[in-house]
Amino acid sequence: MANTNSYLIVEPAAFIKGEVTVPGDKSISHRAVMLASLARGRSSIRNFLPSEDCLCTLRAFEAMGVSVEKQGKTHLIIEGKSGVLFPPFEAIDCGNSGTMMRLLAGILTAQPFYSKLIGDYSLSKRPMSRIIEPLRMMGAKIRADGPKDTPPLIIEPSTLKGIEYRLPIPSAQVKSCILLAGLFASGVTRIIEPVASRDHTERLLEQFGVRTIREKGEIILHGGMKLEATDIEVPGDFSSAAFWIGAAAAIPHSELRVRSIGLNPTRTGLLNILLRMGAQIEESIESYSKGEPIGSLWVRGNKLRATVIQGEEIVGVIDEIPILAVVGALADGVTEIRNAQELRVKESDRIKAIVTNLRAFGVEVEELVDGMRIKGKNTVQAARVESFGDHRIAMAFSILALRANKASRIDDVDCIATSYPGFQEDLRALTQSSTEGWAEETKKIKNFIMGSQKFAKATELEKKELPYPVITIDGTTASGKSTVAKEIAKVLGFTYFNTGALYRAVTWKILALGYDVHDEEKAVEACRKLNLRCVIRKEDSFSQASILVDDQQPLEKELRSPEVNEAVSIVASYRKIREWLLPFQRELAYKEPLVVEGRDIGTVVFPESPYKFFLDANLEEREKRREEQGERDNVAQRDRLDILRSSAPLLCPVDAVKLDTTKPSAQKVVEKILDILWKKGLTISRGKMD
Ligand code: C5P
Repeated sequence: MANTNSYLIVEPAAFIKGEVTVPGDKSISHRAVMLASLARGRSSIRNFLPSEDCLCTLRAFEAMGVSVEKQGKTHLIIEGKSGVLFPPFEAIDCGNSGTMMRLLAGILTAQPFYSKLIGDYSLSKRPMSRIIEPLRMMGAKIRADGPKDTPPLIIEPSTLKGIEYRLPIPSAQVKSCILLAGLFASGVTRIIEPVASRDHTERLLEQFGVRTIREKGEIILHGGMKLEATDIEVPGDFSSAAFWIGAAAAIPHSELRVRSIGLNPTRTGLLNILLRMGAQIEESIESYSKGEPIGSLWVRGNKLRATVIQGEEIVGVIDEIPILAVVGALADGVTEIRNAQELRVKESDRIKAIVTNLRAFGVEVEELVDGMRIKGKNTVQAARVESFGDHRIAMAFSILALRANKASRIDDVDCIATSYPGFQEDLRALTQSSTEGWAEETKKIKNFIMGSQKFAKATELEKKELPYPVITIDGTTASGKSTVAKEIAKVLGFTYFNTGALYRAVTWKILALGYDVHDEEKAVEACRKLNLRCVIRKEDSFSQASILVDDQQPLEKELRSPEVNEAVSIVASYRKIREWLLPFQRELAYKEPLVVEGRDIGTVVFPESPYKFFLDANLEEREKRREEQGERDNVAQRDRLDILRSSAPLLCPVDAVKLDTTKPSAQKVVEKILDILWKKGLTISRGKMD
């Protein structure tokens, strides 16, 4: 079932314009962490991709005793373990990542401990026999516990020997798995690769001081060589840039520059295909960072011609097939994709996912066992489609949606974070200049509404236009929201509404009635019986909303007791409770101009507000603030619950101004916000507003 909690509304765009630097390469980020963890000494990895997939790999090695110093999100300093890891306490969770599971299996077969590798629903359906077979030939004790050789993988300690292995299907993951096991094997490991697949592992091994011999379709590795720490700069991920390259090439009048992108020839097959279709692309390699070519691309939009993509070409564009199918849908003629059966066992059955979604957009497509035939057209009809939990499907169809007659909706887009955090922001930036000149009706729809779905059962209030301005201030716990929001409300003469107090009041009452907040059903039932009321208290220069529960106003110290602090994020994670509180929060906006603070105000409660802010500060500083307030509160734990919950999670709305409050005083933050509001056209004069 599709998770419709997170979705993306994409407005049509006449063209793509601008410059983009995509996040670090996913394949290289995984491999760099693995090799640095096994090496002797301290390695530095810059431009690491902090996506869900790669963070899973990082967590796994941390669980096996590797010490990682994080300097910001993308720079890691890793202290390697000279080839010997510690046994993890638990099963290793590979999340959604096939690369992680297959490569890690190669490493773990040679470690002196038992291990178990598990994955999410989609990874648990992916075949592992392709690595189990060669690893067993090397002497590994490995088995898959799922049906038809699917995860979990169980690995026992063993002694490995080198083998000669001809890859039955071209696969960089299988090749890399064998090479990594080969590092620990006695003798020589020889891999015969009929069609060259991406060679990041070979290039990186060399950077870590381990030479492989590569000639005529063979890779030879001598076992027992030691990895030495090194510094790596991860290039921008070509497969992430592929969505912009495809879009810019296929949409006339587009102009795009992509900077600092990895241009390893085993990855850039897409460019050859696009050139064949008539695209205008220029490529310039500017440096070789530790063996990986990095450069820039310029792409200009054109009407493209259909093509056939098949045979040996497929392996070099396997990740790019979703965007190639979209490009085919916009080209003149029938584009054919063949010999791509591998797509059926990717993050989703990509053939099925592509065919289903193309049809939803009104594109004629014929499904083949190993690919598809797509009849191109100029524009498509708007659609609501799902990602099938697959990041590349979500991103490819966001691109097709740019060519629709009106806004489209892509459901279940959380998965985009597995490879491209920041995709939505880049999509917005690259299409910003293009909306003029497009159909009038689409202008009315906001360019993007990203965030959790508004609840289906909420009242009609959801759809009604807001009569007064609402300033939304979301952010992490103790990031300074209340101080800042109150002051803004005072200056503007708006009413201050603390929605945290609303969740706290409900939690306080549930606890007072003796319910266990962990029992979701009971907690929801208890809530339903409560009578909530909101009164606006106006003092001299300050107006604020107070919450009454069953006609009783809880005291501030009751709302901020250690018990409520501990329970509130649990109660707030229950979808039905949020659903119930949504119209209650919106209602106030029909009475007063508001400054509202909370966690989901800009994403869910008032997504239409043009005045959105998001505050954050580093954890240490926030913990210090709580301590100074003399409050017992586990800030990190509350953040974690708020960020990870599936219903209306804490996230920065794409159109919010994000402010770091670690250093500046609250007064400075207030001034900054007032300045932004002023520039946005909200006329400000004490006690009044226009
Ligand atoms: O802001 P405050 O710390 O008082 O919020 C208490 C808790 O209420 C948060 O940690 C969060 O779990 C919940 N909350 C929420 N959505 C809001 C406001 C608060 O989930 N809009």
